[in-house]
Amino acid sequence: MTHAFLDLPPLTAAHFASIERQVAALLRTEQDVVIMQGEALLPLEACIRSAAEPGSTALNVITGPYGQTFGNWLRDCGVTVVDLAVPFHTAVSPDQVREALAAHPETSFVSLVHAEAATGNTNPVAAIGEVVRAHGALFMLDAVASVGAEPLLPDAWGVDLCVIGGQKAMGGPAGVSAVSVSERAWQRFAENPQAPRGSYLSLLDWKRRWIDGGRKALPHAPAQLEMLALQACLDRIEADGLDTVMDRHARAAAATRAGALALGGGLAPYVHRAQDSAPVATTLRVPAGSDASELVAEALAADPALPLIAGGGALAKEMIRINHYGPQATEDAVYSALAALGAALHGTGTSVDLRGARSAVAAAWQNG
Ligand SMILES: *Cc1c(COP(=O)(O)O)cnc(C)c1O
Repeated sequence: MTHAFLDLPPLTAAHFASIERQVAALLRTEQDVVIMQGEALLPLEACIRSAAEPGSTALNVITGPYGQTFGNWLRDCGVTVVDLAVPFHTAVSPDQVREALAAHPETSFVSLVHAEAATGNTNPVAAIGEVVRAHGALFMLDAVASVGAEPLLPDAWGVDLCVIGGQKAMGGPAGVSAVSVSERAWQRFAENPQAPRGSYLSLLDWKRRWIDGGRKALPHAPAQLEMLALQACLDRIEADGLDTVMDRHARAAAATRAGALALGGGLAPYVHRAQDSAPVATTLRVPAGSDASELVAEALAADPALPLIAGGGALAKEMIRINHYGPQATEDAVYSALAALGAALHGTGTSVDLRGARSAVAAAWQNG
């Protein structure tokens, strides 16, 4: 094992601050960016606990599994939660958000997941942001699965808290994550007596000890290796061009969708409309009578490196997910995953069209 990971000079405050500026540039944001030293659930929980005032009302949009978690944290903080849940095969519409806010005018916080890697759908954040801004509520966005895969413009969209992680389309580490925090959000946190202070979950601590001090002294020893990996993936995105990286993800999603339809055998895109499907991952519905977990296990037995996984929880029988993100956003990865699923289906006596899938993937990849 190499010692290259070990004998490194300490990460300086200036270096840490420069990585934060790279994240801000990636998000095209003028807001403060805080890089938190943990997986993306850390800033997500930090945002909710910082903003959630007991007795207030929050609109929590549920379009996949993470929304459920956000609702639980909000309730835990004594917030009255209005859950707006839509089926996982679709997206939430701006009108649904407008109606929910009109029915609960006291709402002061809205939480939304942009793209859902787990269920393969994505939500129209720009239009929803307009609705939330018109209402005046604070707007939190989980953009972990959209950053790098599709346009993400927190400032232009009126997002007060935009949380990202490096482990999906950015092709980076999972151990550090970031959040952009608007002036309005800082104010809300400061006014919230329940906002974590003196806590690992505290964004206010980062503001007081790091940002307000001019980013001169880090409050704790940074996760050095994860920070360097985050910088490396930001450098790579800058070198490739963000548009190129997003284009690869869009092509991968289009190719997976077209390839699955051409493969046949009863596989169908889980998300009905292509415009509601996420560029980061494509979910497929398995034919009646087959079991998604078994098909995935069969495909992975042939090649454990394939970016395939069965749906989580109750979806394990009916949903297959192809994770075409980061280094897997390639024509090859998409076709290999579909071919392995085709072979698994063939093994159950279902007829599939591998050649048709191959040309559909190639054509969709070409057309973008
Ligand atoms: C991947 C992801 C996260 C990060 O959480 P993990 O469960 O640790 O992967 C958060 N939100 C969304 C929408 C994600 O896709």
